[in-house]
Amino acid sequence: MSTAGARPVLIAGGGIGGLSAALALAARGVGVHVLEAEREFSESGAGIQIGPNGSRILIGLGLGDALEAGAVRPEAVILRDGLSGRRLASVPLGREALARYGAPYYVAERRVLHRMLLDAASRSPQIQLSTGIRLTACREQGRGIAAGSDDGREIEGRALVAADGVHSRLRSILFGRAPVFSGRNAWRATAADAKSLAASGDAVNLWLGPDAHMLHYRCGPGGPVNAVAIVGGEAASPGWGTRGDTGELARHFSGWADEPLRILAGFKDWMRWPLLELAPMRRWSRGAATLMGDAAHVLMPFLASGAVMALEDAATLAAEMARTPDDPAEAFRAYEQRRMARVGRVRRASARMGEIYHMSGAMRLARNLTLGAAPERLLSARNDWLYGYRVEG
Ligand SMILES: Cc1cc2nc3c(=O)[nH]c(=O)nc-3n(C[C@H](O)[C@H](O)[C@H](O)COP(=O)(O)OP(=O)(O)OC[C@H]3O[C@@H](n4cnc5c(N)ncnc54)[C@H](O)[C@@H]3O)c2cc1C
Repeated sequence: MSTAGARPVLIAGGGIGGLSAALALAARGVGVHVLEAEREFSESGAGIQIGPNGSRILIGLGLGDALEAGAVRPEAVILRDGLSGRRLASVPLGREALARYGAPYYVAERRVLHRMLLDAASRSPQIQLSTGIRLTACREQGRGIAAGSDDGREIEGRALVAADGVHSRLRSILFGRAPVFSGRNAWRATAADAKSLAASGDAVNLWLGPDAHMLHYRCGPGGPVNAVAIVGGEAASPGWGTRGDTGELARHFSGWADEPLRILAGFKDWMRWPLLELAPMRRWSRGAATLMGDAAHVLMPFLASGAVMALEDAATLAAEMARTPDDPAEAFRAYEQRRMARVGRVRRASARMGEIYHMSGAMRLARNLTLGAAPERLLSARNDWLYGYRVEG
């Protein structure tokens, strides 16, 4: 399909979602203009897990070599009980995930993944990249869209994809919807020197406990190690920049076994932020404007799938734009129809996983027994619906 000379599709936000949508659309011959609010494209945070359903899409976008060079293929997810320190189960990844799903399970530094996407976007003649443009308005104009920025600029396109994240202004303009605090906070830290974290290996290590869990994994070749703790409590201030008080974090882990406590203590400079929820929306699209990524759906991080859902959104959106290139509104309707059931299933599974991770008392003991008795192949098979997913078209 060639749309040479046609007005570009505007994409609000140059995070993992917006850049992957730009690459997926460009690969289909669609011209794109990515408008990022910040002065520079950047990605904060530490590590990110990319299941095979996401890596398949990145590889399809030409990032296979970059992933092999900059990311890590963990051998397994190892689940342990935080109170006893006992190993409960291991879900094989590595070669097993590759053989089972035809694409690897990766972990990477967020900034490394983001840089891969940005470099690829910078090389594409179909993609225009602009920074310092915060879109705060949009209206239908003729057969396209006029998007307005907070400093009074107006940018025209044939359609608008809002990839402006969890606090999406465009979601609130188009649908009047905003996320709310989930009752949990995420704490995150990185350690450059992984030597002291003997349990890390090349696995995603998960420690489960009452109303709290933590995980850590090496997210780049040779380090660093990323740790995330998810705990209940009052809302931390929004954003990524809130430094967490380590004493407060430690209180959520009182009574835990020595090994996870030693690992927690090995990380300094914890940052914390509130985990938000957005009730499922019935529509993501209005005419030639649509939402994707965290702007469309905010998932709890228990299945480590929020960014991967943005990748699936991007691939689906591009497939539908290719199907009806002259009718973005129709393409967006088809896109949201295809995506909503899938995202709903991942949302529910993620919430359920959170309940399981944070069990206490008799439920915790039952969970430990069940996990301990489950054969590895059964644990792997339980993830097939998630990791085996392929975007058609
Ligand atoms: C603790 C935690 C762990 C997680 N771990 C994983 C994991 O392991 N794997 C996984 O797949 N997912 C994970 N996620 C989810 C993942 O981080 C998000 O789903 C993903 O980053 C969303 O990407 P996005 O591009 O939609 O939004 P964002 O990354 O938020 O990008 C939005 C972009 O839009 C820009 N912007 C904002 N407003 C405007 C505007 N008005 N105009 C223009 N630009 C604008 C922003 O500056 C930003 O660059 C995790 C989430 C949390 C909280």
